[in-house]
Amino acid sequence: MNEVRYFSRTPMPLEMHKVCIVQKTNLPPVERRVEAIREAGFNSYRLFSEDVYLDMLTDSGVNAMTNEQLGAMMVADEAYAGTMTYKKLSAKLTEIFGKTYFLPAHQGRACEHILAKTFVREGDLVPMNFMFGTAVAQISLMGGSFVSLLDDKGLQKQSDEPFKGDFDERKLISILDSEAERIAYVRIEAGTNLIGGQPISMRSMLRAAELCRERGIMSVLDASLLQDNLHFIKTREHPELTIREITRRIADAMDIIYFSARKFGFGRGGVIITDDEAHYLDMKAYVSRYEGFPTYGGMSIREMEAIAVGLDDTMDEVTISQGPAFISYLCAELSKNGVDVVTPPGGLGCHVDARKFVPHIPLAQYPAGSLAAAIYIASGARGMERGGIDEPWEDPNVEPFGAMELVRLAMPRRVYTVSQLNYLIDRLIWLKQNAHIIGGLRFPEGSKRHFYDALESIGDWPQALAAKFREDFRDSL
Ligand SMILES: *Cc1c(COP(=O)(O)O)cnc(C)c1O
Repeated sequence: MNEVRYFSRTPMPLEMHKVCIVQKTNLPPVERRVEAIREAGFNSYRLFSEDVYLDMLTDSGVNAMTNEQLGAMMVADEAYAGTMTYKKLSAKLTEIFGKTYFLPAHQGRACEHILAKTFVREGDLVPMNFMFGTAVAQISLMGGSFVSLLDDKGLQKQSDEPFKGDFDERKLISILDSEAERIAYVRIEAGTNLIGGQPISMRSMLRAAELCRERGIMSVLDASLLQDNLHFIKTREHPELTIREITRRIADAMDIIYFSARKFGFGRGGVIITDDEAHYLDMKAYVSRYEGFPTYGGMSIREMEAIAVGLDDTMDEVTISQGPAFISYLCAELSKNGVDVVTPPGGLGCHVDARKFVPHIPLAQYPAGSLAAAIYIASGARGMERGGIDEPWEDPNVEPFGAMELVRLAMPRRVYTVSQLNYLIDRLIWLKQNAHIIGGLRFPEGSKRHFYDALESIGDWPQALAAKFREDFRDSL
């Protein structure tokens, strides 16, 4: 029982916190928004905060802290070696996950670097439920490769499947049996990021870990998005267990757990934990080489204090239901108004289906990138393109097109209110009615075509969109 409902019984997204400290934001008029996105090369990564009203690019490092976290930062024990803050965070991690050894790193990809350095050799393979960019980058740098073993149901954009992040168990068994000698470890990703923050069931996590254990293969949990995943296990799979019990059962099954504390723990940093002393010592050598002394590992000590407190919040059923409740509200209101989104709503954010929104824009003109730019012009909200622009190139001569073409509207935790979401919903409904005005984008001749490179609009549709906005909204911002 952690849901508040309207008298009509529909769920009510209700903020379960009060605001202590605020940051002013700016909603520039539509004329400035067109200018700003043009200056940014129609790429939302290149906008600066002064031009952004709702920053829904990511949930990374932008989650609001509590008064208790901010207070804890003031008592941080600043010491290069042997800070007491390390002991505090270590004890909190052991309390929650039951693991003995803790290594700090500066963020999630740094943990992935340490893991790959320690365990991946040339020619090795890392099976996973689904790939994530930073994880596979580190594995390939070591000469290893990965294979995604997601159950096909996970790639259907619209369904009512509660756990789209599950492994295809048959494929997992077959790989574990045929490739056993070159498998470095199996990576299990909670809250599967690139398929829309979709959860993996506790059943699938435990089964994957068990299959590994039977074969003497190491299981590694990427817990960066575990917070939302815990909420979904509690509400969709194991209502009889507490969040702490669910966490402990998962942790007990895994050999190594790591996470980006930019997401999990409401802070900024990275954490690796294990019970295996030999693995701990092997990884520790790399932490001191690449991150910092192993009692801070490149993190600010203050952030470590904040994470130690924030971890308690990730174990709080009401707190962790907030993100999913707000995302679910945003998705439901958009669907109701004819905007296609990935369903069921997951954690992380609302994912708008760009191919359905702007069916007239060909893949070669980046529908999701175009829609992200148009959403910014219509609302001052920046989302993230998840499509062709972001797609890794396997063959340098062949441009890959996005399989999904989504615009992600991430939901930073405890940051935006329902009235701000209502504003965004209104602007998206307007944009949907005017979607025919939105045109495509292209990279200028000779551009490097990296996901944060500048693009240009094909024709002056941004101006036309702003003119229509002005006509319809008169003197409103
Ligand atoms: C964000 C993320 C990472 C990488 O973490 P950073 O702190 O951004 O380096 C790794 N795995 C998953 C699932 C993530 O969402």
